[in-house]
Amino acid sequence: MEQPQTVQTQLSNQKKRVVVVGGGPTGTLIALYLAQMDWQVSVYERRRAEPEPSSRRSYNIVLNERGLKALQQAGVELPSAKQVILQGNVRHTPKGTTLSKGFANSVSIDRYTLAQSLIEEGKHRFPHKIQYHFQQTLHQVNLKEKIALFQGELGEHQQEFHLLIGADGVFSTVRSAMEAQIQGFQVQQNRDNMMFKICQLGLAKDLPGATETWASCFHTWPSVQPITLLAPPKTDGSLNGVLILPQEGEITYEQIQTEETVAELFAKKFPDIFPELDQKGLPSGFAQDLLGQKAAYGGVTTICTGFEGGDGVVLLGDAAHSVWPSLGQGCNVALESCRIFAETLAQAQGDLTVALPSYTMIRKPDTDAIARLSEIGFGGNKRATNILFFAKIIAFVFLNKLFPMWFQKFALFQIGNAEVSYLQIWQQVQVQNRQLLIILIGFICLFALILILILGMHQ
Ligand SMILES: Cc1cc2nc3c(=O)[nH]c(=O)nc-3n(C[C@H](O)[C@H](O)[C@H](O)COP(=O)(O)OP(=O)(O)OC[C@H]3O[C@@H](n4cnc5c(N)ncnc54)[C@H](O)[C@@H]3O)c2cc1C
Repeated sequence: MEQPQTVQTQLSNQKKRVVVVGGGPTGTLIALYLAQMDWQVSVYERRRAEPEPSSRRSYNIVLNERGLKALQQAGVELPSAKQVILQGNVRHTPKGTTLSKGFANSVSIDRYTLAQSLIEEGKHRFPHKIQYHFQQTLHQVNLKEKIALFQGELGEHQQEFHLLIGADGVFSTVRSAMEAQIQGFQVQQNRDNMMFKICQLGLAKDLPGATETWASCFHTWPSVQPITLLAPPKTDGSLNGVLILPQEGEITYEQIQTEETVAELFAKKFPDIFPELDQKGLPSGFAQDLLGQKAAYGGVTTICTGFEGGDGVVLLGDAAHSVWPSLGQGCNVALESCRIFAETLAQAQGDLTVALPSYTMIRKPDTDAIARLSEIGFGGNKRATNILFFAKIIAFVFLNKLFPMWFQKFALFQIGNAEVSYLQIWQQVQVQNRQLLIILIGFICLFALILILILGMHQ
């Protein structure tokens, strides 16, 4: 029997209620996409609405074409005052500095500022479709009954949902609920044994040999592996450092416990950052700020058997597919996933029974690929692997120049190209590994042949 039009409309509107857990880049972007498609969205975030700047240690994220395309398609234009458009990459080595075009046209933006900008956009464009709730921590979910339980300052609050989106990061509570309640749903996580802290490195223009361009460049110190210092620029011309140390070995955060050890680390490993350290010491508050932080895990890859459970829950962003930071892709993948999820949902005309499994089918090959790519990305965290890895890059730069018809550019150089999927890049890496193996076997055979000929001539 046909239902009257009004009842159908009412039902479909009721079905469009979504609860997003997590107000990071993923949760705030997917809220915009869904509101655009006429869903009623409630975003729940455990942090305060506007934490004191001193109480948060945010870091800058570099967004390439993938992340930027996802923002653009949701109609988001990041305010120019809140981002730095990168002009290149400055590599600091004991032999001096080199400026390359790497990272050019990518954008450096503070993670908190990115999420906050997306929230402001949501409040402005969809005041009746998106509600943001802060200081609300998801505690429990009953996936069968479709009820989520949040804990806030004023007590507990139950929220019913038609669709629950877990955008609650690498240690997701939604994902844990799925593991406990969905048969066959499994998660694998792999840590890279690195720990990181954030440090403010001062103005780029004050570094020895600096040019004006340096304030809009990504800075790296590649020759101190396995210690890693990455420093994207901030809008005020200063550098926001991420200092990554191994969990075991000569220099770890367990050993860096006093102001003297912090000074020694910078004097030995990064002498160009504070060139007057011997005379003036570290800038005021620098060591205390570093020592006051709890070291966080540097990289975790998360691989789930799927992203959805029935027609009521789906994981997005780091909760679904976090990666190691080696390729600077975590947020780019996360934002790209929002775009692809929204496209899949639109194609299924909002039918969750179709859209959710389709999304897993479409997206998982790519997110599995970037997880694997991030684990090999720029040599992993072992020095020996790095040397071989960089030799491979150089070999492919030459081979591509000499024989472009047989050898493509080094596959990982495509990582920021939104038109090439992560799976295609992974497959290209496999092809290039096989090509190198064939060349190596060819060289060994040639060498053996020459040796046999020489020995034969001497008999
Ligand atoms: C040092 C560092 C540098 C990085 N640099 C880059 C880079 O250059 N480029 C790049 O692409 N990626 C980068 N990343 C990765 C990037 O930060 C993440 O991939 C991205 O933040 C993922 O966004 P998300 O919203 O999925 O998760 P998150 O950013 O982790 O956000 C999850 C949100 O959920 C909230 N939450 C968690 N649990 C609950 C709960 N139970 N209830 C309510 N709320 C909850 C959290 O408070 C948080 O706000 C970097 C990561 C680190 C650590």
